[in-house]
Amino acid sequence: METFDELYYTDPYAREFDAHVTSCTPTDDGFAIELDRTAFYPTGGGQPGDRGTIALADAAAAQAPATGEKDEATAADAESGSDGEAEPEPTLAHVREAVPGAEPGQVVHLTDAPLPVGAAVHGKLDWTWRRDNMEAHTGEHIVSGIVHRLYGYNNIGFHMGEKCIEVDFDGTLTPEQALDVERRANAAVRDNVKVKALLPSPAELEAMDYRSKKDHEGQIRVVVIDGVDSCACCGTHVSTSGQVGLIKILRIGTKKKKTRLELLCGRRALELCEERMDQLRDVSNFLSVADEEVPEAVRRLSGEKDELKHQLKAANRKAIEQEVATMPKQDGALVSYRDAADMDELRYLCECVMEKNVAPVVAALSPMEGSDGRINFAISSAELDLRPVCKELNKRLDGRGGGKPNMVQGSWATTRGQAEAALKELLA
Ligand SMILES: [Zn+2]
Repeated sequence: METFDELYYTDPYAREFDAHVTSCTPTDDGFAIELDRTAFYPTGGGQPGDRGTIALADAAAAQAPATGEKDEATAADAESGSDGEAEPEPTLAHVREAVPGAEPGQVVHLTDAPLPVGAAVHGKLDWTWRRDNMEAHTGEHIVSGIVHRLYGYNNIGFHMGEKCIEVDFDGTLTPEQALDVERRANAAVRDNVKVKALLPSPAELEAMDYRSKKDHEGQIRVVVIDGVDSCACCGTHVSTSGQVGLIKILRIGTKKKKTRLELLCGRRALELCEERMDQLRDVSNFLSVADEEVPEAVRRLSGEKDELKHQLKAANRKAIEQEVATMPKQDGALVSYRDAADMDELRYLCECVMEKNVAPVVAALSPMEGSDGRINFAISSAELDLRPVCKELNKRLDGRGGGKPNMVQGSWATTRGQAEAALKELLA
């Protein structure tokens, strides 16, 4: 049986309240405080619990700032009156999270400090946090209601994080459909319709059309957004849709006939837009183009990079051909160590040496780019089966790789000196 008589339900806009401490017990990492009434919403229904402070009423009156803007308490509370003697009794506790207690309607405030049982206290919510969650929760109802009405999909998962809200549906949405949902949702925001929390009687409920929790026992709380959605919900919401401000879908993921929408609402959505605009401006400044020309400029840059890579590869191959052409022919193994060459160049050097018959076996080595001390290798021979040699080298030089009888490649975790010594011994 749910109870809906706490302040966060009766007055979801209450930022401060007076109460008395009814219990205070130590926990592993702080204290669990209960009050005779509270405006702190306890974690539940996908919505994170409230944060804030609980101060002794006398201390709260004494320190009440004239501006009254800042919710955070300062470290001065803990320092006042200390001259190295007995620790002063705490006058203020920071609420890390409010969570549900064992009994319905019971709220446990997880804090960093104890407060005396029976004391009169003054609670203050971290209003930015709560307001963000109210905007997010209401925005989620609007989106889920529209998806349900247009496509009949149910909301089967819901998580509100600081980075985004995740909403899962039991059907697939295309990016175009999601964009249409977002536009309709923002139109509902602009319409600024009323958001009401109703506690209908069983008979009234029977006649209502609402989403989710139809098998729930006890009193059902139905959140109605006029003309948009009706949904059973125990969270906190803003009182008109316009207060959601903005709804922005960030990502659409579809898997096995399910869709996950990641979205942001209100202040957090606006902050994200500001951040993205800043990032776009950074890129457009860097590329010296107008914002709207960024996609084309990036495509052009990427094309130029591919072309340069292609030219560089051709020039490197040419240099290898010229180098091999001037090599004197030899009977033993040729080992070529190169300061900067990729695997493709190492293989090409081997091919050229084989083609020009410079040596019966050739090993080309180079440090692996971005690795911590690994060396890439390619070994080629017209006569030898290199696979057993490669196996032995890998064993000695902590390596991996292999290949065909006349061409092997891979990398070793070793030094140039050790690699050259092992090659000299095994390819002699
Ligand atoms: Zn809700």
